[in-house]
Amino acid sequence: MRAIRRFTVRPVLPEPIAALGELAGNLRWCWDPAAQDVFAEVDPSLWRRTQDPVRLLGEVAPARLDELARDAAFVERLDEARDGLRRYLEDDRWYQREVPDGPRAIAYFSPEFGIAAALPQYSGGLGILAGDHLKAASDLGVPIVGVGLLYRHGYFTQTLSREGWQQESYPVLDPDEMPITALREADGSPATIAIAMPGGPDLRARVWVARVGRVPLLLLDTDVDANPSHYADVTDRLYGGGSEHRLRQELLLGVGGVRALRAFSRITGAREPEVYHTNEGHAGFQGLERIRELTTGDGSGQTMPAFDAALELVRASTVFTTHTPVPAGIDRFERTLISQYFAADGGVLPGVPTDRVLGLGGEDYADGDPSMFNMAVMGFRLGQRANGVSRLHGHVSREMFNGLWPAFDEGEVPIGSITNGVHAPTWVARELRALVAEIGADVDGDPAAFARALGAVPFGRVWGIKRELRSRLVTDARARLRESWTRRGAAPAELGWTDEALSPDVLTIGFARRVPSYKRLTLMLRDPERLKRLLLDPERPIQLVIAGKAHPADEGGKRLIQDLVRFADDPDVRHRIVFLPNYDIGMAQQLYPGCDVWLNNPLRPYEACGTSGMKAALNGGLNLSILDGWWDEWFDGENGWAIPSADGVDDPDKRDDLEAAALYDLVEREIAPRFYDRDADGVPVRWMEMMRHTLESLGPKVLATRMVRDYVAGLYAPASVAARGLEEGGSGAGELAAWKRRVRDGWPAVRVEHVESHGVGEAAEVGAELSVRAYVALGDLDVSDVEVQLLHGRAEGDDRLTSVQSVPLSPADRFEGGRAAYVGGVRLDRAGPFGYTVRVVPRNPHLASTAELGLAALA
Ligand SMILES: *Cc1c(COP(=O)(O)O)cnc(C)c1O
Repeated sequence: MRAIRRFTVRPVLPEPIAALGELAGNLRWCWDPAAQDVFAEVDPSLWRRTQDPVRLLGEVAPARLDELARDAAFVERLDEARDGLRRYLEDDRWYQREVPDGPRAIAYFSPEFGIAAALPQYSGGLGILAGDHLKAASDLGVPIVGVGLLYRHGYFTQTLSREGWQQESYPVLDPDEMPITALREADGSPATIAIAMPGGPDLRARVWVARVGRVPLLLLDTDVDANPSHYADVTDRLYGGGSEHRLRQELLLGVGGVRALRAFSRITGAREPEVYHTNEGHAGFQGLERIRELTTGDGSGQTMPAFDAALELVRASTVFTTHTPVPAGIDRFERTLISQYFAADGGVLPGVPTDRVLGLGGEDYADGDPSMFNMAVMGFRLGQRANGVSRLHGHVSREMFNGLWPAFDEGEVPIGSITNGVHAPTWVARELRALVAEIGADVDGDPAAFARALGAVPFGRVWGIKRELRSRLVTDARARLRESWTRRGAAPAELGWTDEALSPDVLTIGFARRVPSYKRLTLMLRDPERLKRLLLDPERPIQLVIAGKAHPADEGGKRLIQDLVRFADDPDVRHRIVFLPNYDIGMAQQLYPGCDVWLNNPLRPYEACGTSGMKAALNGGLNLSILDGWWDEWFDGENGWAIPSADGVDDPDKRDDLEAAALYDLVEREIAPRFYDRDADGVPVRWMEMMRHTLESLGPKVLATRMVRDYVAGLYAPASVAARGLEEGGSGAGELAAWKRRVRDGWPAVRVEHVESHGVGEAAEVGAELSVRAYVALGDLDVSDVEVQLLHGRAEGDDRLTSVQSVPLSPADRFEGGRAAYVGGVRLDRAGPFGYTVRVVPRNPHLASTAELGLAALA
């Protein structure tokens, strides 16, 4: 029998313990041990099973609640935890102290958020990163508002068939059973937003709010009665469905997200964002909606086409972060589909010209496909500031998108980088936190000091705790194995071996992540016999704990999982290698602390950053990784191991063979010997030295608080300054737009006509002064519109310049016909081949980079 309608009855908490509701209502509990302890006390086994205060309070027996209400000691601990939460929410923090003129609010858009296992709205790294970003922003007091979608089925739950094939199921998530509340109008009705759809009724969505510490996260949900069923399904699941489905999700996230922000501010009085941070192309339509607001909101009689002025305001206040260097990972739509949705009348944004929309996402550069609309390209055009997520990824992104700024070398493409980080209070094991608390440091206060302190604890103590953590992982893994095998059809009598699977004393290597092909889940199986020998080594065995979900449409990924599961099913090795189904935050929190080594072997350079290795490092794990993403930047020779990557080898099989062989060699010759080299007390001293060095050197860098501070200083604050600069006096944006148009129109006439040099001849000595005089044609442009630069550097064999530096030249003479002479020079301070050239670029204080307009005239 099925119910025709369902709803959730919320528990009534006796007055003395009403604070449980307050604690459960803010996701801060997921990084607050005091709150977790209180919930555990309510019902230990229920808590262990749910790890979810809302469900815990929904399921606990009323008699137990009455009992707790009479327990004065419990009530006192509860009140303390509640007071802790209130202080956390109200006290001034880093941002209030250090960034007094920073943006009043920042909107953070992401298609997924991974905050807690209890809110399964993520598929992998991007979501976890977004969750960690919000949590760290909260800890620092940065006034961020998250914007995302509430997927009715979240991502999927993974199980295995008998044959080891991934099975997906999509349990319905009931918003009433999740840690979110509906945004409501003053009259109590749910706040909704609407978006016009071509040829149909409006798409409607309600707005849920999750409280992530101090940060509100707005989640849009189309499963409302007012929507026809094909609209209600827009937020059915994460990354499912075809192109049009995805477009509707992205319209909802971008356009709907801005409208949700407006509703949230109107209802709660929250400040309007000054900066909009979009992650990946998916939320790019936020910029178009803001242009619509600006251009159709008030016709303030601008002399410029209002669209261009609005575009400047939107650009100045938008930060765009690209998260993937995998070309297939870039989000694109057929241009015809976009034309249909953005038809000037009857489309999503009436009043916004279709051709302008199409222009923003057009691949109108060499190698571009003119039939496609590219969300990343629109991201760069709608965001004045852009970044990748590690130093290497910044470099790869500049190469990948160089076509948008073809007049500039890769190094000048205006895409910077901020390396990702992880939220220590979420990811560091309780036991390690407690150890460090003993010597007066704590992850919540100053996580960098925490990392240093953990590095300073005597080896014996830390080693003892690591064994405990390994042991806990083993227990957890055995339970998961039994559950998985039971689902796969095994009888209990066949499962005795699972009690012996894995050992708390064997070198434990972890590998868990999504399963796209570039992450090479099965590289370790390249030489199965060799892997077997490593697993079964009589003196120095290793054990592998593996997990990961393949995208439901990725048959190749599912085949990799099956290959791995089949290998791990072999009775000879199944006690030393396990695949655990359904990788999620809950499993991850057991996995990182329990592993000694964290393995990562992507195909370089496709891992934009990677964060799981950072989480392992904070728990005293050592990384064994290809030099990709963050590891390329922070591996220092002593904080783990680098698997040499065969970058130049084109044959993928050959490359896999070489890299797998290097991986086996490292495990066999360096890692296992070091792990099993013990002193008289059984402590692996050289191993512990590496662990200490890892904590001290990497600990402070891998933190999400470091990352969020970098975003504030490098992107959010400059973006708000830029936006305020354009808003001042009301005409700045229009003037900038007019200036850009004038410079673009006049640029074909700009030329470096002739360059004279003095001071050095064919050969020069260090210390000589090179002075140049350049004659430049400016056409209709003014001297103040441009900068003329002397570019100098090392001249390579083909005269290409490297390590280029730029010196501005000063205008000296003006001539008839828009010509001018510029002079300046440089002192030669290094020996070797030297070269220089002269270049003209646009100049305006509102530009964030020399390359912004893509215009340059070279000698
Ligand atoms: C950290 C994390 C990821 C991301 O790991 P990568 O190494 O960046 O691929 C994915 N899923 C979960 C559950 C995580 O905790």
